[in-house]
Amino acid sequence: MFARSSLRFWLLLVSVLFALAVVGGISITTYVIVSDGMQGVAQGTTQRVAASAATVLRDAVSESLVAAGSQGFSGEQKGHFAYQTLRTELPSLFNRPGLGEAEYALYDSGDNEVWHSSPTAVWLYQDEARREAISTDQVTVSTGRVGSLISGLARKAQLTIRVMHIPIKMPDGSIAILDVTYRPTNEERVIDAVRAPMTALALSATLIMVLLMQTSMTWVLNLVGNLRKAADSIEAGQLDARLPESGSNEISSLAQSINRLIERLQRRSQAQARFVADASHELATPVAGIRGYTSILRAWGAEDPKVRDEAVDAIDRESRRMARLTGDLLNLLHADQGLVLKTEKFEVNALVRDRLAATASRWIDKDLDFVGPEDEEPLVMSGDPDRFEDVVSILLDNAAKYTPAGGKIVVSTRRKRDMIQLELSDSGQGIPPEDLPRIFDRFFRSEASRAAGEGGFGLGLAICKSIVDSMGGTIAVSSEVGQGTTFDVRVPRGRL
Ligand code: ADP
Repeated sequence: MFARSSLRFWLLLVSVLFALAVVGGISITTYVIVSDGMQGVAQGTTQRVAASAATVLRDAVSESLVAAGSQGFSGEQKGHFAYQTLRTELPSLFNRPGLGEAEYALYDSGDNEVWHSSPTAVWLYQDEARREAISTDQVTVSTGRVGSLISGLARKAQLTIRVMHIPIKMPDGSIAILDVTYRPTNEERVIDAVRAPMTALALSATLIMVLLMQTSMTWVLNLVGNLRKAADSIEAGQLDARLPESGSNEISSLAQSINRLIERLQRRSQAQARFVADASHELATPVAGIRGYTSILRAWGAEDPKVRDEAVDAIDRESRRMARLTGDLLNLLHADQGLVLKTEKFEVNALVRDRLAATASRWIDKDLDFVGPEDEEPLVMSGDPDRFEDVVSILLDNAAKYTPAGGKIVVSTRRKRDMIQLELSDSGQGIPPEDLPRIFDRFFRSEASRAAGEGGFGLGLAICKSIVDSMGGTIAVSSEVGQGTTFDVRVPRGRL
């Protein structure tokens, strides 16, 4: 039914062993408690019967002496006569009601057996205890048969038999010993009566425990089985499969975590597919251009120098565009791979001013007003200056690109606790509210910028975000159409 190595087999084995151990432990403890109680009862009965028997015998000694006296005996003869009378009376003496529960044997002072009520009352190896009772004139107790408190678990119960040795002064003045033996048959019967229901109870308890454990295990294993099936189909490439999340147990929270993981994987795989499609599409345009102009060059280039120059210019333009695109893609790839960032100390304001100057010279035709951070105290941070410079360059380039001639671009920097804040505002065309949530997406370009024919690929802001993320910072945007746009970049100042 089970493969030996399966979890189900081992769990069943463990549950059976566990149930047996628990039920066995409880049964043994219960048995020991019952047996111990019965042993106590037997001991009490022994003492009670022994006390009555001793009284009866002592009374009989006195009576036999009185009877011998009334028959005219005196002195030593009286004692002997009374002793003889007593011996003949012994059987009837211990046959009285209340004394029948025990067995009796009488020994003279020389440990010779005088009389016994039954052969089983004669204990051969208890002479030591009898001698001690004579020498101390005290009752001694010895063990006739050693029992065990758990003996009744597997077979008939056997309790310990205690024998009481009672010194009694005989009519002739000698000390005799009365052995009183109580056999705890009734108590043993009680213990034996417990065995059958106990066994039945133990077996049913074991069965119920195993069944309960099995049921709960089957439930858990079924859930695990469902998880495995779903994981298998995910492994087979079906990323839309989801694990069942029913209930609010640990397994379902595991399923929820795995589902979240799958969703992330799915989103990433979709994003990757989209990225590859977009990248190929973007690459296809300049490639098509280059091929077209190459054909033109081949057909008319030799005859017409004007066509040739135009075609060479266009091929040069398109190949530059391709170079820019592949450069952007590589940048994005590096940022995505969590490129190892340098940790160097650098001065943020100097870096920003340097980038402002470079951007201004590139966009000199637009006559823009570039305002840099005030020349206050230096703003030092520890991080990767090259990556930080990339972010500043892209944002400044965008600002210049999307701001009409004569506009203004302002960059301010400040320290906010352990972060460096860089605010970059322009008085440009702004970004429509519906585009704002998507401008950090790869290859996203607003309709307006497409229509205006600005030559970006929609990768600049995605690269910025990736770099800022890898630095442990944030980038946010606010914009109003026709008024301008502000980018707010915050990166950790690092350990200085
Ligand atoms: P692109 O190469 O198109 O500039 P970006 O990722 O840098 O790609 O920017 C994505 C889009 O966000 C741009 O197409 C443009 O529509 C918008 N955008 C970015 N910066 C600005 C800005 N300063 N002002 C207005 N629009 C902007």
